[in-house]
Amino acid sequence: MAENKRTRGACAYCGREFARAGMTRHLASCPEREKVVEAANGQPGETGPLIHLQVQDAWGGDYWLHLEMAGSATLKQLDKYLRAIWLECCGHLSQFSVGGWRGEEIGMTRKAAQVFRLGVELTHIYDFGTESVTLVRAMDTRTGRPTTRHPIALMARNLAPGYECQECGGPATRLCLECAYEDERPGTLCGEHARGHPHEDYGEPMPLVNSPRVGLCGYEGPAEPPY
Ligand SMILES: [Zn+2]
Ligand SMILES: [Zn+2]
Ligand SMILES: [Zn+2]
Ligand SMILES: [Zn+2]
Repeated sequence: MAENKRTRGACAYCGREFARAGMTRHLASCPEREKVVEAANGQPGETGPLIHLQVQDAWGGDYWLHLEMAGSATLKQLDKYLRAIWLECCGHLSQFSVGGWRGEEIGMTRKAAQVFRLGVELTHIYDFGTESVTLVRAMDTRTGRPTTRHPIALMARNLAPGYECQECGGPATRLCLECAYEDERPGTLCGEHARGHPHEDYGEPMPLVNSPRVGLCGYEGPAEPPY
């Protein structure tokens, strides 16, 4: 697919937009987030470690998430989250490892606080046939109460990359895999050009969703956060 300029995303607390790295800095000082954190910390209940995770696709980093994960939550819960928001097509195997691509596997029952010390980066692989590789890095930690009743909170996510239709340059909503795989063309199409598109060896042009798994193993989304 075509190269894009750095994708931006919106802060879930204040709505301001930043690129991936800028968002890390922003979240550390966002006044709206601070209010949510203080309100959560004012509630009764146990406190514990909470970890700010930066998640990105290993290829271009155009797709990214900033999550806050409870230290008591397991990697299995993170795996489920990643499957729901980005990856799940047909129930492939997945794993976390540390030390890069061929690093040491980290069991899914491990808890976030045991694994994610500051600066630690895990590699997540989904589907060992047509891999989707995701990097998960611990950017920050705090002690307090979770801001939601879920083990993971979505703090920010990239906006869908703005692909252009290969025929007219308008906004693309579909992807032709035959163009992309056989013809070395972008394969990105607007609605109108998708309708009249002549290729069908790989099926109809598929929806372009906000996920690094677009174009792999027939992935069509929904690419929505589970909560
Ligand atoms: Zn903000
Ligand atoms: Zn699949
Ligand atoms: Zn078009
Ligand atoms: Zn095509």
